[in-house]
Order: sequence, then C-alpha cells, then structure tokens
Amino acid sequence: MSTKKKKFYITTPIYYVNDQPHIGHSYTTIAADVLARYRRIQKDKVFFSVGVDEHGAKIEEAAEKKGKTPKQLCDENSKIFEKIWQDLNISYDNFIRTTDPYHKKIVQKVLKILYNQGIIYKGIYEGLYCVGCEQYKTKSDLVNGKCPEHQTKPMVVKEENYIFKLSQFENILREKIEKDEFEIRPKERKKEVLQFLKNGLQDISISRQRVKWGVVLPFDKAHTAYVWVDAFLNYLTVIGWDGNAKKFPKFWPPDLQLMSKDILRVHATIWPALLLALNIPLPKKLFVHGYFTIDTQKMSKTIGNVIWPNEMIEKFGVDGTRYLLLSACPFGRDGDISREKLLEKYNADLAKGLGNLTARVITLTAKNPPARSRYSVSGGKVNKEIKKIQKNYKQAMDEFKLNSALEEIWKLIGFCDRYIEKEKPWEQKDNQLSVINDLLIALSNIAEMLEPFLPETSEKILKQIKSKSKGKPLFPRI
Ligand SMILES: [Zn+2]
Repeated sequence: MSTKKKKFYITTPIYYVNDQPHIGHSYTTIAADVLARYRRIQKDKVFFSVGVDEHGAKIEEAAEKKGKTPKQLCDENSKIFEKIWQDLNISYDNFIRTTDPYHKKIVQKVLKILYNQGIIYKGIYEGLYCVGCEQYKTKSDLVNGKCPEHQTKPMVVKEENYIFKLSQFENILREKIEKDEFEIRPKERKKEVLQFLKNGLQDISISRQRVKWGVVLPFDKAHTAYVWVDAFLNYLTVIGWDGNAKKFPKFWPPDLQLMSKDILRVHATIWPALLLALNIPLPKKLFVHGYFTIDTQKMSKTIGNVIWPNEMIEKFGVDGTRYLLLSACPFGRDGDISREKLLEKYNADLAKGLGNLTARVITLTAKNPPARSRYSVSGGKVNKEIKKIQKNYKQAMDEFKLNSALEEIWKLIGFCDRYIEKEKPWEQKDNQLSVINDLLIALSNIAEMLEPFLPETSEKILKQIKSKSKGKPLFPRI
C-alpha cells in the first residue's frame, strides 16, 4: 500500500478590494478554511490560498472617489482583508495580491504566449459591459435593460481590443463538464453552465484601452489586461508557477475551487479555456454556494442591511461567527439570516447546547473523577451512537455538506443531554462513574469533530477534559 500523502489544493476566489469584506466573502473563506483544516487532520498535504484582486475600472473609480491613488487604496484595503481573515482564524497558506510584481510578470508572460500562438488577436469588440460585474452581458442576461445584479444599465462598448478565441473551446469544455472531468457542483450549477454553453461561446475582449490600472499587455503598451485574465492566473502564481507551460508546481491542479454563483460562469468558461490554451490540466472541481439574504432582502449598502463580519465577531466571538454562518443554510444553496435569528441560534446552540453540556460534564467529572486516566466506553448504546454520528459526519464532510456535519455534532450533544437526564449521574449510584466516563468520551468526540469548524473551542474543551477543571463559559449567554 502506498503511504504517499494525498495533496489537497483548495482556493477561494480573490476578492475585489474596492470594498470591505462582508459576510458573503467571509462565508466562502470560512468554508474553505473548514475543508482545509479537515483535510490537514486527515494528514493530507494541504495548500489553501486566498487573496485579493486589485486591478480594474471599479478600483480606479473607487480610488478616485476617495481622492487616493489606486495603489494606495489597494494597500489599505488588502490589509483590511488580510486582517479580517486573521481575525476569523483562517488558516491560509498564502495570501496573494495581483499587484504583486511576480504575479504581474507571469500574467505578461502568459499573454505573450497566447498572442504568439494566435489565440489572442487584435479586433474590434462591441458589446454591453457592466462595470459592476466587470463582465460583458448578453441581451438575455438583462432584466428591463439593466444588470439584475447591479440595477444599472450596461455601457455600450466598442473599441479596438485584443480578443481571446474563447469560442474555439466550446466543444471541449462541454465534453469535459458533461463527463465531470471538470466537475461543477452542485449538479444544478453544472446544468446551468451546460445550458449557457448551448447558446454558444463568443470570443471575448481581453484588453482595455480606457482602464489604466491593470497589467500592461507586453505586445501593446496602450492596453491593459482584462481583470479576469489577470485574476484567474492567481491560482497558478500563488503556488509559485513560473509561467512554464510544461512544468507546474506540485500542488497543481486545484482539487477544489470555492465560489459564489455570480462568478461561476467566468470560472467555468474563460478560466478553463485559458488553461486549455496553455495546455495545462484543469482544476478538478468547482463548488458553488448561494447568497445570503437578510430578512429575505438582498444584502445591500443602499438598503443599509449589510451585516459585517467585525460586528459578528464582536458580538458572538470568532468561533460563534464561524458557527452561525456555516450552520445558516445548506452549503450550495441560498440562505436567509437576520440579526434576531443569529442571536437566537447563538443562545440555543452555543450558549445552551454546546456550552451547557461542556460545563455539566466537566463539573460532574471534577466532583466525581473517574478512577482510570484513560476513559473507555462502558455502555454499548453510547458507543453505538458515537460511531453512527462519526460515520454520518465523515460522509457529510466528504460531500461538502458542512451544515449537515454540524447537525450531526449537535445530534450527539442532544443525545448526551438526554443521557444525563435519564441517568442522573449526580446521584450516587452504581453506574455513576461509568456514565461520567461515557459522557467524557462523547464530549471529546464532539470536540474532535468540531476542530475544523471551531478550532479554539475544540481546544478549550479538550483542555478542560484533560485538566478535569471547568474553564470560563465557552459561549456566554447574550
Ligand atoms: Zn452587473
């Protein structure tokens, strides 16, 4: 049997730095962190990348509005993103910025290769362009003539540009997506992409003359590269690729790329087409999650209903925030949250559920320390329950059903609560110590399963079990 470690390369999208990180960004990044931690626990070799996308018209505009240079704005905002990921205990291996000179150099190298191959050519491009999306729109994408995402009319753009022969990759992409060689999940997202491909892929413009804030085309200094081409290559440069199409870093290809649904289409077309053009193996899997609405409304600064990660951390703590976001809805679907619902869930699941159980079990243990230093399960029933839940948990994790994995842990918490009520281990009975033993084993299993989700809490619980002394409440009631 091979003892070679499995590699696991997981990415989040790189976020635009024209804005502050909101809970949508946080949701993707926490989910990626949970999966990265989970695979590290399995002893896989993990590389987990995050970063920021710093070029393009939106950033140029945002900087101008604030009276700053684009570079100043990027420096400031990329620090905000990095800080919030550190605050949320995100265990990334590398944080990439697209203004990084190394990244820019490789982007130029790639553009030159594609130009020399004739896959990029000069032409007139005309289309409807939404600056908010940084994407061209077809008429069928619009609702009442407006971008449904931004409620703005797209610009009619006609300019001499460099064009990427995207259409040439239509058939091979369709085939690879259909066969799951390039897997898109959940399945309804795969269907959506295949449906989009049915209408045919158009060549796309990959350069801009009006946008100065970008990577300059090496063969025409009057143009900068289209932000997506620049951005996608981060997945290669972040692991140290040097632009040699015959040799890739050992982590290539990505095993899992997470994203929200608004950027699926570009990730399922332009991104793999670039790789195919360069003769580089495609990512194994894209996984697409949904949006959060707040009280059934779209989260928007205009409405003023945005929930910021800082606000959540302040109120619920880091692990509280991680739990509340990941348990809010099935991973892959849309979810609705509200400040009231978050508070309710915090008190019910964390202060009461997990916090209460830990305090009860540790108090019982401190008063009635089991004689053995290593605990073994006495009751077959408890053991059976733990085994069953571990199995369901693992299956859920392997299928990225993160909220289901959490639900399994909370089933074990509920089981323990009922077990305590039934056995009343505070009474001096024959089985008192064995019941406490069972509870300690169940609690340490809970802590182990929680580790990828709530790393600090998991450690605190294991410490209390070891020292048999109660710590501060894990989640004080609010
Ligand atoms: Zn838009």
